[in-house]
Amino acid sequence: MIEKFKQTDRTTFILFIFILFVFIMFVTGYKIKEGMSHYALQSNKITTLQLIDKELYSFTFTTNKFTNYDEIDKQENKFHQILKRVSSDLQKYNTDTSVLLKDISKNFQKKVEDLEYFKAQNSTLINSSHFLFDLQRTISDASEISLQAKNLTNETLFYILRYASSDYIDKKIIDKKLNKLKIIANNEKKQYLYTFYRHSKVMLQTLQSLKEVSQEIQINPLYQQIEMLKLHITRDYEKSLQYQTWLLNTFFFFAVFILFALILSHLESIKIKKELLAFKYAVEHSDNIVVITDIERKIIYVNETFEKATGYKAKEVLGENPRILKSDIQDENVYEELNTKLAKGEKWDGQFINKRKDGTILYEKASIVPVFIEGKLVNYIALKLDITAYIEKNKKLVQAATVFENTEEAIIIADAEGKVVSVNRAFTNIYGYMLKQIQGKNLSFLQSGAQDKYFYEDLWNQLLKNGIWKGKLVNISSAGELIPVWTTIKQITNDKGNVANYTAVQTDLRELETSQKKADYLAYHDALTELYNRTHFEEYLFHALAVARRNQTILAVLFVDLDRFKIINDTLGHDIGDEVLQGVASRLKATLRDSDFISRWGGDEFVVILENLESASDAAIVATNIIKNLAEPIKINEHSLVTTASVGIAIYPENGEDVNTLVKHADSAMYFAKETGKNNVRYYTKELSQNIQYKLNIDMELRSALQNNEFHMVFQPQYKLSTNSIFSIEALIRWQNPTLGNVPPDKFIPVAEENGVIITLGYFVFEESCKAFKQMHQSNTQIKYIAINVSSLQFKEPNLLENFLAILKRHNVKPSEIEIEITERFVMEQTVASMSILQNFRDHGFKISIDDFGTGYSSMSYLKQLPVDTIKIDKSFVDGIAQESSDNIVIEAIIALAKTLGYTVVSEGIETEEQEDFLSKANCDLGQGYLFSKPVRCEEIMERFH
Ligand code: C2E
Ligand code: MG
Ligand code: MG
Repeated sequence: MIEKFKQTDRTTFILFIFILFVFIMFVTGYKIKEGMSHYALQSNKITTLQLIDKELYSFTFTTNKFTNYDEIDKQENKFHQILKRVSSDLQKYNTDTSVLLKDISKNFQKKVEDLEYFKAQNSTLINSSHFLFDLQRTISDASEISLQAKNLTNETLFYILRYASSDYIDKKIIDKKLNKLKIIANNEKKQYLYTFYRHSKVMLQTLQSLKEVSQEIQINPLYQQIEMLKLHITRDYEKSLQYQTWLLNTFFFFAVFILFALILSHLESIKIKKELLAFKYAVEHSDNIVVITDIERKIIYVNETFEKATGYKAKEVLGENPRILKSDIQDENVYEELNTKLAKGEKWDGQFINKRKDGTILYEKASIVPVFIEGKLVNYIALKLDITAYIEKNKKLVQAATVFENTEEAIIIADAEGKVVSVNRAFTNIYGYMLKQIQGKNLSFLQSGAQDKYFYEDLWNQLLKNGIWKGKLVNISSAGELIPVWTTIKQITNDKGNVANYTAVQTDLRELETSQKKADYLAYHDALTELYNRTHFEEYLFHALAVARRNQTILAVLFVDLDRFKIINDTLGHDIGDEVLQGVASRLKATLRDSDFISRWGGDEFVVILENLESASDAAIVATNIIKNLAEPIKINEHSLVTTASVGIAIYPENGEDVNTLVKHADSAMYFAKETGKNNVRYYTKELSQNIQYKLNIDMELRSALQNNEFHMVFQPQYKLSTNSIFSIEALIRWQNPTLGNVPPDKFIPVAEENGVIITLGYFVFEESCKAFKQMHQSNTQIKYIAINVSSLQFKEPNLLENFLAILKRHNVKPSEIEIEITERFVMEQTVASMSILQNFRDHGFKISIDDFGTGYSSMSYLKQLPVDTIKIDKSFVDGIAQESSDNIVIEAIIALAKTLGYTVVSEGIETEEQEDFLSKANCDLGQGYLFSKPVRCEEIMERFH
């Protein structure tokens, strides 16, 4: 570019000089031409002067002849005028000719005067000759005159006339003749002769004068002077012509030289132009993004690559600052560094993270150069390379490398000949080989011999055919250990389609195979007791039923459930719980035949299949044996634990013919056994199914019970065991239905929970309880609070807390006067959400109590995390209180643990003084039960405890 500017300037200068020279040449040429015509003109005039001079001179030859005087005047005038013009012309140019011109003028004047004189004399002469001629004729005719005289006059006249016309006649001859004539005249005394003599004498004298004046005219140097003038101007002209020719030649020479320089310069500029075009083409089609900005950093040029890379059309960005491409992730420091460098006039190299028109990210490697022309900043040129693909690929490579190094799978990269190129860390971990030990080795060093050569042949065939092989290999490690690996080998081809590499990814199957065996075992066994599990049970029963059907034999399913096992687990710890379960399992095995199928279904549920029974009653015998054997205390460490069980029996084909029905019915029978006092055996009966019908009826009736005012509340006091005085009240619901009669809450609450009636029922209970509490508290301030049972389902109500608070406000009851009883089931179902709900209630002052503690599956460790104030020990424990009972140990443990955790402990269902005594000694805080009071109406409480 800079070169181009310089070149243009030089060419212009040379061209200017050339034009100047040509102009000078033209002027010089013009001057030469002008000088030439001036010279020609002057020279012509001078020649004319010479001619006139010659002409005038020729008049002198007309002696004694006719002379054209007008012509002489005309020529004189002409001469005069030409001379005047020549003088004035020459004076303008050649001042040094003035002397010469003056001389010419003077001599010309002289010549004119001489000619005047000549004219006068010649006229005289002509007259004289005419007179003489006439006289001579007279003489010739006169007879008196002698012949001699006559001849002499004739001769004299002849000589005079000849003398007049030429110089060859000697004047002395004429004088002699005249003298002779004078003598004769004297002799003859003739007048004519005297006259003749005198006139001849005069004529001779005139002739003499004419000859003299002709002589004078002849010697006038006018002609020579004119010649000199001519020479002079010729010399001057030649001198100036010589100088101008020299000038012309010189300029011509220079012009030719300059023309040559111009041609050279033109050739040079053509070359530069070609270079510029090539440069332009290169810029336009370069892989580089080219952006040119002015000094204000406004874009003045972008190339095609820019358009392709950024998605902007040139016209969209012209006049804009290149920062329109800036992305949010571009570090601002880059611009600072760039500006500092450019301000110093230096080139900047770096990287941009820009944004395309469509918002995607464009990585660019960039150089920005400030362009100076003759020390002045004119542009900035940015050359940028789109390196997005490279960066992305690099990122992927880094990711790939990370994956390669950190994956648990062994990765082997081999060349086309199966020689190791690279392996990852996992490979080294599995096989014990470092990369450097095996690099370049054929992979066959991994072969253990577990696969024969046909296997490998097949592997290669498949790999070459499909490009991939998958399968299990047993390889050998550096230590000689057999390594089973799940392997995927892939062919990697290059651009030409030839195999470049193989990659093998291997999953170590050692652990998996061991765990698979374990898993297979676990899939069918219970890990704790090593009895069969439920899955195996179902498969086994399915087959057993098929056999029984074929053989028409009787089969029994026994559902054995330990009574209150969970509480042992929680209070004495899981280790003891597990040991109890293992003890139960071995008792079951000892009680049953080897052919009987025993399984454990998790928790404390055991299910047994008895095949080939003689009669259904045989099952009861086995079941009773089970119960009997289990009732023997199990000794674990210092504890001697009694675990009773409830057993339900279902018989094939009597109670069901498929797996599900038999299991369901055995389960129902087991629940029936529990309901009827636990520690006993029950067969499935039709009545159990009737129970289901009863539940459906409850469901129907419940839906309209509230509107029909079928519910009312009763209240049961809770009293301080230490003082035997009332302390609080538990609210319990009662339902009197016209068709179903008195339905106990144990029966309808679960149904209400299922059909959703529990929500409205819950508000009814809360409202009624608050109303009653207010009255009871007013009649007896010893009654500190009321315990209200709240179902876990009620907590799903989004505004439960707000609604409860509103009810409290209506009845002027404080939250601290309410204890919310939740069942253990709630605790089991607890989630972070429900925990925070409970915490919310507690934050508002409510007390929280865990009801029926010991029947569910919660544990003390669970409770620790819950916002709970009170633990209510279930009635079934209290029932078990007796001398030497294992329940005693459990109850003492529960109370002790609950108290250390800071809970208030309530025991419900106290019916005997013995129970009351035991609990009181065990440090239980509160008691509730028929011994103190049955649940009664509010009015009765007020009446009895005021
Ligand atoms: P719960 O909350 O554990 O209530 C104690 C149950 O034991 C009550 O039975 C009570 O009458 C009974 N009981 C108290 N002392 C003795 C005793 O010394 N001997 C005997 N044999 N029984 C005694 P109820 O009223 O039949 O309630 C049964 C269950 O129904 C309650 O157990 C509670 O879980 C549920 N329930 C009762 N009322 C409501 C209620 O308003 N809302 C909710 N959600 N559940 C309720
Ligand atoms: Mg309760
Ligand atoms: Mg209870």
